[in-house]
Amino acid sequence: MPAQENGFALFHDPLQNRGSAFTPDQRAANGLEGLLPPAVDTLEIQVARIHLQLSALDSDMQKYLLLSDLQARNQTLFFAVIMSDPATFMPLVYTPTVGEACQKFDHFYRAPRGVYLPITAKGRLKELLQNWPQKDIRFIVVTDGERILGLGDLGVNGMGIPVGKLSLYTAVAGVPPELTLPITLDVGTNNEQYLEDPLYLGLRQHRVRGAEYDAFIDEFVQAIQSLYPKSCLQWEDFANINAVPILARYKDKICTYNDDIQGTASVALAGIYGSLRISGEKLTEQRFLFMGAGSAGTGIAELISEAMLLEGLTIEQARARCFLFDVNGLLESSRSDIADFQKPFTHAHAPTKNFVEAIESIKPTAIIGVSTVPKLFNQQVIEAMSRVNERPIIFPYSNPTSRSECTAEEAYKWSNGKAIFASGSPYPPVEVNGQKFIPGQGNNVYIFPAMGMAVLATESSRVTEAMFIVAAKAVAEQVGQESLDSGLIYPPQSQILDASLHTAAKIATYIFDNGLARVPRPADIESHIRAMAYKPAYS
Ligand code: NAD
Repeated sequence: MPAQENGFALFHDPLQNRGSAFTPDQRAANGLEGLLPPAVDTLEIQVARIHLQLSALDSDMQKYLLLSDLQARNQTLFFAVIMSDPATFMPLVYTPTVGEACQKFDHFYRAPRGVYLPITAKGRLKELLQNWPQKDIRFIVVTDGERILGLGDLGVNGMGIPVGKLSLYTAVAGVPPELTLPITLDVGTNNEQYLEDPLYLGLRQHRVRGAEYDAFIDEFVQAIQSLYPKSCLQWEDFANINAVPILARYKDKICTYNDDIQGTASVALAGIYGSLRISGEKLTEQRFLFMGAGSAGTGIAELISEAMLLEGLTIEQARARCFLFDVNGLLESSRSDIADFQKPFTHAHAPTKNFVEAIESIKPTAIIGVSTVPKLFNQQVIEAMSRVNERPIIFPYSNPTSRSECTAEEAYKWSNGKAIFASGSPYPPVEVNGQKFIPGQGNNVYIFPAMGMAVLATESSRVTEAMFIVAAKAVAEQVGQESLDSGLIYPPQSQILDASLHTAAKIATYIFDNGLARVPRPADIESHIRAMAYKPAYS
């Protein structure tokens, strides 16, 4: 740590501040004597103090704010706290708490974090980015705030998402925090409530669309490429109308991905691979019926198809094993309302609006709920799946819990304990017929931090679909037999750091094997990644 003339400034630098853990020598060298109580704490004692402070707070929102202040004050301590118990702290620094934090971001606003790029600064984006103090940036999460979680257009209030998500990249896979940068593009908001709120912090204008928006995104990408050529750009919570074309425009040109599209598909595929470890069947033997044919449904179906391609099917044979159902019934060839992105999964079949009828005819081995509509996997649906399968795969993935197509208890009870279950939102353990089941949560957090760490460690030139298939396999292969025996098809969240580093090593190996890396291959990739991973400690 460099000696400072004004040691007091150290308290305001979250990267250097140690608070009560400044050693006597550091206190003497930096003019801090007398500015701190005499005791010299260890990091462990500081962590214990924060745990104590958190336990005195009633609401998750208050805990979020305490942690957010801590992050602005002392980054090492912040990460030591969340990494002390990731399963407990992930829901506090990210979903679901971050949703409420974003909605009230302008009301709770305290200190700036990340970079805000308003469309009024077009032509000067590089200049604004240069104001960020760190110059070596390797990982960026960017949003335009239009589709924040399931909450819709939150404008500049969406900044909570890149900030929270990057905290997970660090806490869950060791991506060094000083190499990360959260960014919000402010192109206006169509949220009238915010436009009228005097406390709203973003531009007071409606969203810019079309060519002007596209040119702004282009300028942004060019500025990032020129300032941070080794970085990976992760798009987050853009509305579908922009998310899909943006990804298509840049994915073959720069190192970039969209977690909502690709991470989601990958974690669902991981759940399928995990299920197959229970049933002992092959991926190419499965048939999938989706409830919901939107971006999540088609994205998952496409990645599953590509994974089947790697196991010997043609893409047509693979897609023929994926059927989609939407608000108007089964997607089938006689319908005239099928969008282009749904056509690969629209097959010859008699029209039906009855899901149970579709199950009896298609005989899917798995049903995946991505409809946003609760209770669609009712007793008749689960019983039909149990009639046509020994071990039916039941994935109600719609979030939040209130939108889930069924609960864990319903799936296990109505299938008489036969269901292989995972959901988008978490459920507590369930007991059916004297047997205890632990429901898994298909949370993207199994995928995106590992992807970030792999890309960072290899300086990968691209992020490809195949890398998401590798990630899904790596997640599934880490589920222990004891977990599988209790129905759990994802690794326990308490071991997520270890699991993520293993997944990152598998992805990195693929990157090296396929000539995408821009650094020399280390002798032992997993040890190399583990050595690179951030560990909260005062250096
Ligand atoms: P979307 O709006 O693009 O698609 C919803 C689809 O559901 C549409 O095809 C619509 O026609 C269909 N639908 C609506 N009502 C229906 C009904 N009554 N019967 C049958 N189909 C109906 O939404 P999306 O982005 O695809 O997301 C869908 C859900 O998936 C969300 O709840 C989201 O939270 C969830 N999701 C979960 C994860 C995860 O757990 N990892 C990741 C991504 C999305």
